[in-house]
Amino acid sequence: MEIFYGKAIFRGIAIGKILFNSKNKQQVRRTKIDDAEAEISRFEKAKEEASQELEVLYNKALKEVGESNAAIFEVHSMMLEDDDFNDAIIEKIKNQLVNAEYAVAKTGDGLADMFANMEDEYFRARAADMKDISERVISKLVGEDSSFQLKEPAIIVAKDLAPSETIQMDKSKLLAFVTELGSSSSHTAILARTMNLPALIGVKIDSGWNGKFAVVDGYNGKLVIEPDKDTLAKYKKIQQDDLEKRELLKELKGKETVTKGGKKIHLYANIGNPSDLSSVLENDAEGIGLFRSEFLYLDSDNFPTEEEQFNAYRKVAETMGSKKVIIRTLDIGADKQVGYFNLGHEDNPAMGYRAIRICLDQQDIFKTQLRALLRASAFGNISVMYPMIISVNEVMQIKEIVKNVMEELETEGIDFNKNIEQGIMIETPAAVIISDELAKEADFFSIGTNDLTQYTLAADRQNAKLENIIDTHHPAVLRSIKTVIENAHKAGIWAGICGELGADTSLTETFLSYGIDELSVSPTFVLPVRKVVRDTD
Ligand code: PEP
Ligand code: MG
Repeated sequence: MEIFYGKAIFRGIAIGKILFNSKNKQQVRRTKIDDAEAEISRFEKAKEEASQELEVLYNKALKEVGESNAAIFEVHSMMLEDDDFNDAIIEKIKNQLVNAEYAVAKTGDGLADMFANMEDEYFRARAADMKDISERVISKLVGEDSSFQLKEPAIIVAKDLAPSETIQMDKSKLLAFVTELGSSSSHTAILARTMNLPALIGVKIDSGWNGKFAVVDGYNGKLVIEPDKDTLAKYKKIQQDDLEKRELLKELKGKETVTKGGKKIHLYANIGNPSDLSSVLENDAEGIGLFRSEFLYLDSDNFPTEEEQFNAYRKVAETMGSKKVIIRTLDIGADKQVGYFNLGHEDNPAMGYRAIRICLDQQDIFKTQLRALLRASAFGNISVMYPMIISVNEVMQIKEIVKNVMEELETEGIDFNKNIEQGIMIETPAAVIISDELAKEADFFSIGTNDLTQYTLAADRQNAKLENIIDTHHPAVLRSIKTVIENAHKAGIWAGICGELGADTSLTETFLSYGIDELSVSPTFVLPVRKVVRDTD
């Protein structure tokens, strides 16, 4: 057994025989020609054939991997028509009286090198596309088929793979890709992800592996050649578990989150960034129940501007369409420290200057966020909620600020949703105890069980030594949840859970019995939770 390491670009396990893609670069010889015009016509004809082939590939990709991935072939068609590429080839044929194959190869190599030396990773990845285009034209000139066909299921190992090679392979026989070159933003990598194929890049490959039995471990970036019995058994088990999970996904996608008795709940996802949206859609969440907006601040070296925030919120709202997107206002402090806030040292940061306390104290920061959020509310179904509330007075202050911001926007003639839903996070014992009062001032409650557990049990959620003390099933936590739901319903508002406990399927039935209206969980837990809800009587 031998193990080689690379960078995983798609998670998953593949087990099977290696097929070494030995499709070498076409060996192109330089020959002298007499008739430059005839040679240019040969090139034009080959280019036309290549262009037609690209159109076929585009349509195939469109059907199999969607428009955004198919777009690469449109890019190839454009690159094929590019003046720099064409002029350089024609000039070489005319001035140097060389054969078209040579002129294409030389020009393609030159442009590919230029891309490869660029700083920007995106442009560096285009080097492979340039080579792909010139190889395609050359294969037309020499009359060879440029595709690489699979006869049996295989793990493809290659120095590099062009997107067109990837797309031409029979998907049902592809197990995984392993390449030495390529980057995680190359289109081949993107295609691997779209096709759900485990893939590794940066592996020092060896043609001697051809035909050998291997495992691609896309979780840990490993290629295991000729695994021993125990290793193979371990990987087979992981693969089986993955398969079961995927089956579960397929089965429950598009289904309602409803109990056997007909009680429907809203099952949303938690996100920290617009980049999490693909996972939200992939896992069929019915909305976003918690957008932790502080990640926009954590990812930045300075306060994100109103415009930057507006763009992020708008993107999320537009992507989700009519589905609900609940944005939680800034929850900085405690475990989420940001240098430029200059919060200073605190003996007890979890119980300190954090979240809504900062926003009410430094209202400029809060107002900027509210403006961005309200502006984005014109582009989708946005709600807003406030973290770490302990008093009705805080809610009144927030409402006053929101009112002022709304008046400002109105004066400026900027569109926003005047009836935006405003909710309160229930994360403190104080909020639980006065939840009957708070319910009169809120449109909904979202229970943050991570903090609620920490404050109820007086146990720091960051302290690893308290692993055994932090009992999320503690009766005090569960009774708090029950009380909050009851008080919400008495006031005619809905209540949900957005803390990690919402994804604890051993409690789903309990939450349903309390009358929970919504659960918001990490995207990968959406379907497992849906399954338990649907199995509940
Ligand atoms: C919570 O406290 O449960 C919560 C959802 O907020 P965070 O984990 O971001 O503090
Ligand atoms: Mg919290």
